[in-house]
Amino acid sequence: MENSSRILSGMRATGNLHLGHYHGAIKNWVNLQYEHECYFMVADIHALTTNYESTGLIASSVHEMVIDWLACGVDPSQAVIFIQSEVPAHAELHLLLSMITPLSWLERVPTYKEQIEKLSNRDLGTYGFLGYPLLQSADILLYNAKFVPVGEDQVSHVELTREIARRFNYIYGRETGFEEKAREVIPKLGHKRALLYEELLVQYQQEGNDEALEKARFLLKDAVNLSLGERERLFAFLENKSKVILTEPQALVTAASKLPGLDGQKMSKSYNNTLMLREAPDTISKKIKSMQTDPARIRRTDTGDPQKCPVWQLHRVYSNEEVKQWVQTGCTTAGIGCLDCKGPLIESIQAESEQFRERARPYIEDRNLVRNILADGAEKANETTEDTLDMVKSAMGIKY
Ligand code: SF4
Repeated sequence: MENSSRILSGMRATGNLHLGHYHGAIKNWVNLQYEHECYFMVADIHALTTNYESTGLIASSVHEMVIDWLACGVDPSQAVIFIQSEVPAHAELHLLLSMITPLSWLERVPTYKEQIEKLSNRDLGTYGFLGYPLLQSADILLYNAKFVPVGEDQVSHVELTREIARRFNYIYGRETGFEEKAREVIPKLGHKRALLYEELLVQYQQEGNDEALEKARFLLKDAVNLSLGERERLFAFLENKSKVILTEPQALVTAASKLPGLDGQKMSKSYNNTLMLREAPDTISKKIKSMQTDPARIRRTDTGDPQKCPVWQLHRVYSNEEVKQWVQTGCTTAGIGCLDCKGPLIESIQAESEQFRERARPYIEDRNLVRNILADGAEKANETTEDTLDMVKSAMGIKY
């Protein structure tokens, strides 16, 4: 079932996107869509986990966010773009997996406690919030995705997904009475060999002794009284193997965005330090002109240190080597003023933003274009997930 190149990624629908989103995630998606079969999901159900009391923002931001993706270069002819709630299999698999997921696995997810503390102004003592990493697991497992592009902070969620897939396969990937049937075959090895097999089985399964595994394999290959099926059964019992129904995904860790906000902290709407993706040129200019600089550079004649200045962090992303050298020399010798320094940056960001606005224009003028992209995406995603859900239900014994 594993799809060797399929990728699933998503973003919560919580408003228009800023340049931090572009440099931290979407730029990577744009590259990935040419190398892999990509599914990009508007995670509207995930947005409910923290915004369940005021859902207005979710509804109004879904289409805007997709326009932002398209503006960045996400191409609907290359990637499937869909809304999570329009593919009911996400909710259904989440529910089914919740039956086998130990509560302690969810409670120990590092982001759970962190978020509860960080968002202490909201009541997050809900099942939905505790279970959101499980919903993420369902999102991923539904597509049998081989890779999930994530930042460092999300690696633990992919690890949880792997554990859930393993547990599911272990519980439901075995035929009924697997162990009993294997034990019925063991005596056919003959008394001495049967005892040795049981001994080696314990040594490998309980103590992880690889040498015991090799010896037991050899013993089985050599046994003459077994049919092919019986030999296979004892091999499977030895290695504790079960059928793979859900694929364990790998995290594709993307480097953290180097784009800081206007105050040097991480760019985030909650810090009020953002440059939006489709920001108007004069707003870009105004925001950058009022950015803080090296606090030691009070007068024009004071020298500065770019390492202590958030403007330099933006130059590192937006400027070529020549401009960066000009900034370094000009700042440390007071050869340029801070407003001079910000000039080429304003131009580069305005040029980038102009491209975004240009690409977004047709979708703003004709909203049906976005609706059609999302309808096609939902259809494709529903088709893809149907098989997985069927297999899961069959394995769990609720497919009639
Ligand atoms: S010259 Fe540039 S890098 Fe130096 S303090 Fe001013 S804005 Fe920052």
